[in-house]
Amino acid sequence: MRLSLFARLILGYLAIFVIVAAASVYAILTLRQLGARTAAILTVDNRMLEHEKALADLLLGQSRVEQKFIITRDEAWYLQFVRLKVDFEARLENALALGDGMAAPILSSVRQDYLSYVSLVDGESRYVRTHKAYSQARYKQDKDALVDGILSGFERLRVNQQHATGAKLADLAAMADQAREMSIAIAIACLFAIVLMSLLVTRSITAPIALLKRKTEEIAKGNFESGVVVKSPPEIGALAEALSAMSERLRELDRMKADFFASMSHELRTPLTSIKEGTGLLLEGVGGATTEKQRKLLAILAEESNRLISLVNSLLDLSKMEAGMMTYEFEVSNVDPLIKRAVAEIAPLVEAKQIKLESAVAAALPAVRIDPERILQVLRNLLGNAVKFTPAGGQVSVTAKPLDGKLEIAVRDSGPGIPAESLISIFEKFNQGSRPSGSARSGTGLGLAIVKSIVSSHGGKIWAESQLGQGSAFIFVLPC
Ligand code: ADP
Repeated sequence: MRLSLFARLILGYLAIFVIVAAASVYAILTLRQLGARTAAILTVDNRMLEHEKALADLLLGQSRVEQKFIITRDEAWYLQFVRLKVDFEARLENALALGDGMAAPILSSVRQDYLSYVSLVDGESRYVRTHKAYSQARYKQDKDALVDGILSGFERLRVNQQHATGAKLADLAAMADQAREMSIAIAIACLFAIVLMSLLVTRSITAPIALLKRKTEEIAKGNFESGVVVKSPPEIGALAEALSAMSERLRELDRMKADFFASMSHELRTPLTSIKEGTGLLLEGVGGATTEKQRKLLAILAEESNRLISLVNSLLDLSKMEAGMMTYEFEVSNVDPLIKRAVAEIAPLVEAKQIKLESAVAAALPAVRIDPERILQVLRNLLGNAVKFTPAGGQVSVTAKPLDGKLEIAVRDSGPGIPAESLISIFEKFNQGSRPSGSARSGTGLGLAIVKSIVSSHGGKIWAESQLGQGSAFIFVLPC
């Protein structure tokens, strides 16, 4: 099943969304872990250090006031000792409650030593209050040993704690590094995925469109043969099917057109030629004697059937040219004999109109690659127009000469000329230019369109130059 463009785009964006969401989840989890470690440093390690410092101060305070009580026997010092003791015990409990596994054994041993110290102080205070003799030096030595033991416990705790915090910070830094590397890797992966996704989606759209474009160009050139088969999303597939259907239809129309030309040639030209031939025979008297009036009618009939034949021929020629079905038989040939032939053919008309017709062909004309029949058709058309539009007593000339590696042929006349605005449009079919008022010249407006098509098919160019009232020139160049 081929996915639609819509589905492809949605799936592409969904995949990108999933990658980005996964990256975000990873970032959130890492940040949470980093947060927990930082909190552990702040809540456990720092608090433990605070407790340790306060406990050491409280112990030293107790030691001081307890000794003052022993020396002064003032109960106020003992009371202060008891207050400091309550504070110390509460702090110690708080420190234990932090639940630091590494600190717990040290704190327990501190508690043990502290209880021994307190019981020593209690024992000594009883001697002091009852004024009994006892070894003060011995008690002092034991108490100092215990206090020193507790203080060194606190020292151990502090050093341990600092090491632990350092290790945790190093851990934190390593985690941050890892998170940064991971984030970069994820960003690169996202970018890669997005580029890949865009390429795949874009390619799946542009590749079949490029194929369709090539097919359309082939169809435009008149090649309707192969159908259009593309592997593409359904939307473009539908376009390809429509193009296939269009190509199929065009092929059919092409065939119909070819049939039409074939039947037109046969169905129209054959009877027209028969009419022309028949009329000619009647005029020659083959069908028996004809009256003057009949001969006049037959002459009109012959002329009109001639006109019709030439119109049908022109129409067929032009249709074939436009359909790209005109066949040319190119050969390397000289135009000199063609000019001579065209001039000879028009000579009777030139004579009848008392026009002066000159041809000036350069001595060494280069041979050109042409279809001689078609170039003769061009010359007939241009000379025919020149003689047709030139009034009696005027002049027509044909020249041929090499020019810039090409062959230039020009037909000039001393006719009425062509207005500047019509110089280009007269080459369009059915365009007969602007006619002088009152003139009613016959014609179809197809001749110059055919001429232009033939010259173009030879790779040449044709144009007209003229000034009103001073004649016209039709010039065409053919590549050598
Ligand atoms: P047609 O001569 O059958 O009308 P063409 O295509 O041969 O058709 O010519 C188109 C138009 O160009 C003519 O109707 C005419 O107005 C103009 N034209 C062609 N040749 C000449 C010429 N030698 N002198 C003046 N006008 C011309």
